[in-house]
Amino acid sequence: MVEHRQPTLAQVVEQHVYSPNTYLCSCSRDDDDAPTISFTEWAVHVAAVWREACTITTAGQLDALPTGAVIRTAGVVYASEPRTGVQANAWVAIGDRYRHCSDEILLPALLIHHPDWSRDE
Ligand SMILES: [Zn+2]
Repeated sequence: MVEHRQPTLAQVVEQHVYSPNTYLCSCSRDDDDAPTISFTEWAVHVAAVWREACTITTAGQLDALPTGAVIRTAGVVYASEPRTGVQANAWVAIGDRYRHCSDEILLPALLIHHPDWSRDE
């Protein structure tokens, strides 16, 4: 199984600090060619970075998510549930009984809940 550690929102945001002096995000190159952005544009940028961080593109990434993770793909919401005797979780559509393996899930999917997000840090 490929190890994939889902970053927290705090970890993503700390890589993207806005400077009101240079009008640049900290992820941009610090040179004269870097396009300046407004605070509102920076907020849109951080939202896009977070969305990308939550986009699941491989079955391996799905398998690495813990029990209780929730994803949405093609208008269907799936929650991960443990499978007896199998390391990777099953994916169950909300309101359905059929359990899917990760390679049966249409990707990309958007991670909409990770159990770590419920914890106080
Ligand atoms: Zn940035």
